[in-house]
Amino acid sequence: MKIYLNGDLVEKEKAMVSVFDHGLLYGDGVFEGIRLYDGCVFKLDEHLERLEYSAKAILLDLPLDRQQMAEAVCDTCRANNLSNGYVRLVVTRGVGHLGLTPDGCGPPSVIIIADDIQLYPEELYENGLKIISVPTRRINASALPPAVKSLNYLNNILAKIEAKKVGFQEALMLNDKGEIAECTGDNVFVLSKGVLYTPPLDAGSLRGITRGAVMDIAQDLGIPCREQALTRYDLWTAEECFLTGTAAEVIPCVEVDHRTVGNGQPGQMTQKFIDKFRQNVRQDGVKI
Ligand code: PMP
Repeated sequence: MKIYLNGDLVEKEKAMVSVFDHGLLYGDGVFEGIRLYDGCVFKLDEHLERLEYSAKAILLDLPLDRQQMAEAVCDTCRANNLSNGYVRLVVTRGVGHLGLTPDGCGPPSVIIIADDIQLYPEELYENGLKIISVPTRRINASALPPAVKSLNYLNNILAKIEAKKVGFQEALMLNDKGEIAECTGDNVFVLSKGVLYTPPLDAGSLRGITRGAVMDIAQDLGIPCREQALTRYDLWTAEECFLTGTAAEVIPCVEVDHRTVGNGQPGQMTQKFIDKFRQNVRQDGVKI
């Protein structure tokens, strides 16, 4: 496997970063997870825009412009003969001293890994996922804007561990007001009385690219979609629920906190979103 590392495509075994890289020492950096379907990168421009915004928010100057970054992503996919897979694009603050200050750090390290993807088993797309809310909260938006896709995922990791320890594959994360934020790596949607709802960004949700794609599908299907603060009660009493993310795509959720969602089967509307999304990803991409 070839890894893109600061302008070179190097063998996996030789793809090394310094122990003084602030991405490692402090989680000081940003990243994106991107999908490649049938030789086309899905929503590449949207991912690169989000990366630029994340970098800007943490005062990190990206060493490549949009076009150069896009080429680097496509080159990495080509170098690995991939036509379907997952791309992890990471930009760290770079090598510095043992101190928080980014002064003297750099240049930023750019790492691109293009690999196969481990999806949830197909069985979960057919029968749905069961999720549980966990004690670890999403980081407060005033501490770190949730829209910044930074290398700080520790609270999401803790939430995932908490869910797994009690036998669930995914955790529902709340914000510090007790409202629904998102799952550990996915956004949440519910359908109630014909209206689709998802938490607003200021509730602690990432501006998911899949979330955006689902909102577009809702518009095409004529289903009203609202960004609205949601409580656990709204999920417990919803007719349908699903999660969205680059890796998971659109996945039905049939149980929240031991309460069955709808009739306990993936909802009909959810199935429409899954079908339409799977159709769109093969039509709407940048050829590598
Ligand atoms: N929330 C979090 C915390 C995430 O890390 C992700 C991406 N893995 C998402 C939501 C979903 O975003 P996207 O659809 O852009 O993958």
